Amino acid sequence: MIDAILRQALGKQPPTDRQLSCLIELPEERLPELLAAARQVRQAFFGRSIGLCAIVNARSGRCAADCAFCAQSARHATDVPSYPFIGAQKAAEAAARAKAAGATRFGIVTSGERLGRAEFAELCAAVAGVKALGLAADVSVGFLEPGDVARLQAAGLSGVHHNLETARSFFPRICTTHDYDTALDTVRAALAAGAYVCSGGIFGLGEGWDARIELAETLRGLGVPSVPINFLTPIPGTPLAGRPAMARAEALRLVALYRFMLPQAHLRVCGGRPLVFADDPLEVLTAGASGLMTGDYLTTPGERPESDREGLQKLGYEAG
Ligand code: SF4
Repeated sequence: MIDAILRQALGKQPPTDRQLSCLIELPEERLPELLAAARQVRQAFFGRSIGLCAIVNARSGRCAADCAFCAQSARHATDVPSYPFIGAQKAAEAAARAKAAGATRFGIVTSGERLGRAEFAELCAAVAGVKALGLAADVSVGFLEPGDVARLQAAGLSGVHHNLETARSFFPRICTTHDYDTALDTVRAALAAGAYVCSGGIFGLGEGWDARIELAETLRGLGVPSVPINFLTPIPGTPLAGRPAMARAEALRLVALYRFMLPQAHLRVCGGRPLVFADDPLEVLTAGASGLMTGDYLTTPGERPESDREGLQKLGYEAG
């Protein structure tokens, strides 16, 4: 069964429904075989290159939305700092630090569902500043209209990041303040404008394997080239504070499943890596991931870029 899934992935075909069921039910002692096959798929499409990206939380907190996992919702009693948009200068300084640490993509991320007009103009200046450093400049700034993407592209934008978070069927359990179609519209607008689009989700929210597969199918249908995979870090004060961290074996199986379902997509492991893979932060690469977010996440600490880079080198990967 694993051989058949591997052959299909190498031929850019996803597993069948029956194969997906087998993959989910495969006994844990056979996980190494599954991971080895997932690595072969990564090798075929990405070689030994592991993409490193970094972000800055450029506007924090005070978000009106109620995403259950998020420390930045104004509806949750968390101690996350709140501050307005940091502006182009500080964004460029953060990008310069990320570049020095080895990142090739840099994302400017803001809390909230949209930016105001003045902030958007400043964002364009920030994008130009990041691009001037020789980094791919990405934004993750909530919902975007087609005209917004064009303005950002004129300033030097490379990519738009907009996570769907979870499957449509599970989304109402996670967020009630906006609908799934609005997020899909943003992803489609960015793809239509020719931007490099990162869109994925966060796992360990209480969703089942059906929802994980449903999300992968949605992403495959959209044709996004890059899929961030986040694992929940339960934050005190949020509705998901009491959820357990995802088990390592489950996280590895999930990444392998996404590698088979999205063989050509960059799978970038982001938030939650230090929690799930505490003693071996690069272990997730054994499941076929092809990218890592390095440095701190929006509201939680990440891995030190220097140690990620050194670790990659020791393992024979190229940071790209
Ligand atoms: S995930 Fe984004 S939209 Fe949702 S609460 Fe957090 S900052 Fe707001």
